[in-house]
Amino acid sequence: MSDCGVYPLSELLANGWSRAEVAEARRAGRLSSVAHGWVSAEGADDRAVSAVAAGGALSCISALRFHRTHGSEGIWVPPGYQETHVRRPKHRKSGARPTGPFRWCQGYGRPLPVVSAVDSIPIALGCAARCLEPEDWVATVDSILNQTQLTIPDIQADMGGVTKAVMELFGRCDARSQSGTESIARVRLVATGFKVAVQPSIGGHERADLRVGSLLIECDGRQYHSSAEAFRNDRRRDRMTLIDRWMTMRVTYDDVLYDWESVLEDIRAVTRPDRHRIRREEDPRRREIPSP
Ligand SMILES: [Zn+2]
Repeated sequence: MSDCGVYPLSELLANGWSRAEVAEARRAGRLSSVAHGWVSAEGADDRAVSAVAAGGALSCISALRFHRTHGSEGIWVPPGYQETHVRRPKHRKSGARPTGPFRWCQGYGRPLPVVSAVDSIPIALGCAARCLEPEDWVATVDSILNQTQLTIPDIQADMGGVTKAVMELFGRCDARSQSGTESIARVRLVATGFKVAVQPSIGGHERADLRVGSLLIECDGRQYHSSAEAFRNDRRRDRMTLIDRWMTMRVTYDDVLYDWESVLEDIRAVTRPDRHRIRREEDPRRREIPSP
């Protein structure tokens, strides 16, 4: 359980606090009232306080960002979406508005009750399925499948309504993806009509991120700074791909997120069906090279 510093009173009582102790902590200023039945401790997360004060829970991408900084560092969260996303149970339609730019959001199906100040990852994903661009949602789920213990059935069991549209989104997820950059590139390439291999073997124990035809695409995640070991591994992979005559294209986070059109143009140019045929016809020596 991630600790955001905002608690339902019932949770404190269940954890051994007596009503007298809660009252004393309030008088001493160690706990503050946030909303009916909710208190916050010093240093509580501002957005969680604001969401609870508005009668809801921090949810959707805001909850996913919270989880990323509280125990689930591997979650990829797309850039943008700066508003605070707040989910309310159905019966709370009035009340305070959260502070700062915010957005009410809700998953599919019957609204779930608010039981914690920050929604769990599955409930947050249920809301995010309606708020995020599909490719951003798929990339986020990929990272959760890859980096946490959660599986698709786990998420579906707890996320609320699982509509046909949500099932279709899950069908595009891939737990093998190693970075948000890779996920977004894959989803976009598949949407463009390319047949994409994910984490293809390139000999030995080595794998590339993606492969389209004979082109390997290596995606660098912005958050992972290359260590000396990663640098060495990359060079070793480059040598192995040369042996098998793969071509390698390295793309960065910014290339994929902000300059996709030119990346796509380059991939198209490299994988054009006639490109290799022309080269073979022009270079008869190539025919003499025996196949491995
Ligand atoms: Zn939302």
